Amino acid sequence: MSIKSNLQQVRSSLRNNVELVAVSKYHTIEAVQEAYDAGQRVFGESREQELRIKHDTLPKDIMWHFIGHMQTNKVKYIAPYIAMIEAVDSFKLIKEIEKQAAKNNRTIDILLELHLAQEESKSGMLPDECLAMLEEGEWRNMPHVRIRGIMMMASNTDDEQLIKSEFLRAKELFDVIKQRYFADDEAFSIRSYGMSGDYLLAQECGSNHVRVGSRIFSE
Ligand SMILES: *Cc1c(COP(=O)(O)O)cnc(C)c1O
Repeated sequence: MSIKSNLQQVRSSLRNNVELVAVSKYHTIEAVQEAYDAGQRVFGESREQELRIKHDTLPKDIMWHFIGHMQTNKVKYIAPYIAMIEAVDSFKLIKEIEKQAAKNNRTIDILLELHLAQEESKSGMLPDECLAMLEEGEWRNMPHVRIRGIMMMASNTDDEQLIKSEFLRAKELFDVIKQRYFADDEAFSIRSYGMSGDYLLAQECGSNHVRVGSRIFSE
């Protein structure tokens, strides 16, 4: 199977309103170019250095999403060009993104990463933590940051019922946050969950933004 046919297959199984982020981390420049040539424009990376090399080398109309854990001190490197930072897990990080985006005269889209999985190791804000931050309200004074929605990673398990319950919980929390804080903001619309193993289940559970890597780039 080629990258092109993998992409076509994944795309054809997604509804029109679902954005596909091709997760190209650990894959070569050539592989990304092949996906680009097949029409893909949104790519996800999780390491700043790898992303920098790809950004410098590949076509400039690619929209890069940073999907990994973002360290505060690395924001300045990606701020000039990043389209979206998906895994925002603290108010401290939002403040730094605001600062660096302002310096670059840009507005940067972000997603709030929620910790809903059972594993301790997973990152993200606990729901109460996230709601408390939104309630506090200081994020409203950050004109260079645009909160576009939520992101989460399900537990790493074969238990489909558990994954499903986490996805549904993500959808529920999105709805609560939307209603309480973003009811009049059309831009707050993204529910980012679902990866190679579970993106169809995620779609069934209300995801409109899936991050698919190995299913596209590996045999
Ligand atoms: C690697 C990664 C993905 C894609 O995983 P695959 O199983 O290769 O599709 C999605 N989201 C995040 C946050 C990742 O780090």
